[in-house]
Amino acid sequence: MKNIYDLIIVGGGPAGITAGIYAARQNIKLLLIAKELGGQLGEKAVAIENYTGFESISGMELIKKFENHLKKQKIGLEEGEVIKIEKKEGVFLITTKEKKEFESKTVIVSSGADPRPLEVPGEKEFIGRGVSYCVLCDGPMFSGKIVAVIGGGNAGFEAAIFLAQITKKVYILEFGEQVKADTENQERVGKMENIEIITQAASKEIKGTQFVESLIYQDRKTQELKTLKTDGIFVEIGNQPATSFLGGLVDFNERDEIKVEFEALQTKTPGLFAAGDVNVGKYKQIITACGEGAKAALATYDYLLKLK
Ligand SMILES: Cc1cc2nc3c(=O)[nH]c(=O)nc-3n(C[C@H](O)[C@H](O)[C@H](O)COP(=O)(O)OP(=O)(O)OC[C@H]3O[C@@H](n4cnc5c(N)ncnc54)[C@H](O)[C@@H]3O)c2cc1C
Repeated sequence: MKNIYDLIIVGGGPAGITAGIYAARQNIKLLLIAKELGGQLGEKAVAIENYTGFESISGMELIKKFENHLKKQKIGLEEGEVIKIEKKEGVFLITTKEKKEFESKTVIVSSGADPRPLEVPGEKEFIGRGVSYCVLCDGPMFSGKIVAVIGGGNAGFEAAIFLAQITKKVYILEFGEQVKADTENQERVGKMENIEIITQAASKEIKGTQFVESLIYQDRKTQELKTLKTDGIFVEIGNQPATSFLGGLVDFNERDEIKVEFEALQTKTPGLFAAGDVNVGKYKQIITACGEGAKAALATYDYLLKLK
């Protein structure tokens, strides 16, 4: 008889781990596949102050607690990167980069999101040598230096506020005519003398020798190319949901987030559910990801009962 799982969860962040804990209680044949357990917070030394029950806990510590809880459950864990999901004759076929194949009656996609890249020359070359996507992880390395934050939304402003306290000067570059951060963040930035906002700035190239030395941007008002001397560049232009393996099984919105129906978090393909940062939604947090993981696992169980 074929080894078909009842449920395979793709992703091991807060959403996937919570889905795993809930699904394991349903006594079903269950596997969780993840590139690595922990997700976005797995290796980040950020302080979490908004997860119920913990006044302040580091991201790494919280994730460790999640992992320990998961590992006490009856669940198979597979380290791997899913590269394809297909549905054939009512069964999902999941292929990993490590050339393994798995079959399942249902799937929960909880593969989260990666930072959206700038896509300019020099960006990839200088990752880890001045280009960063995580201010809280890499910011302290730029103590006393000049840095640029690309993106004038809340993420960019919060990054700039953090950096302004340790660096000499922070530039915020915003592509549009006006920044998009909320009033509170704008007021906080307004009070910091070493933050300068440049609007209508289109980043064009990152230059340097061993480390980043400058950012070339186009002033969209005058079309003039300008050089900004900077030691570090923090890219804060949003996240890219990790969904490349899904093909036509789901619909996406304009931000490439998976569209799900509200009640059960099911995608347009029956038996395929999605939870966490990968989904449509403005508020992407640990607690919301966990909530969606729980919801998707309970909905999957209802779906499986109806299959019998
Ligand atoms: C610097 C930083 C600070 C933050 N601070 C807070 C905070 O203070 N409070 C808060 O509530 N939230 C915070 N967040 C947001 C929070 O981390 C996310 O909302 C949450 O991690 C989303 O969980 P998730 O499970 O949906 O996705 P993720 O955490 O992104 O997990 C995705 C999982 O999927 C796996 N994966 C991805 N692609 C594949 C694939 N193809 N195959 C197999 N596995 C795959 C990954 O390895 C990972 O295990 C912060 C985020 C960052 C980056």
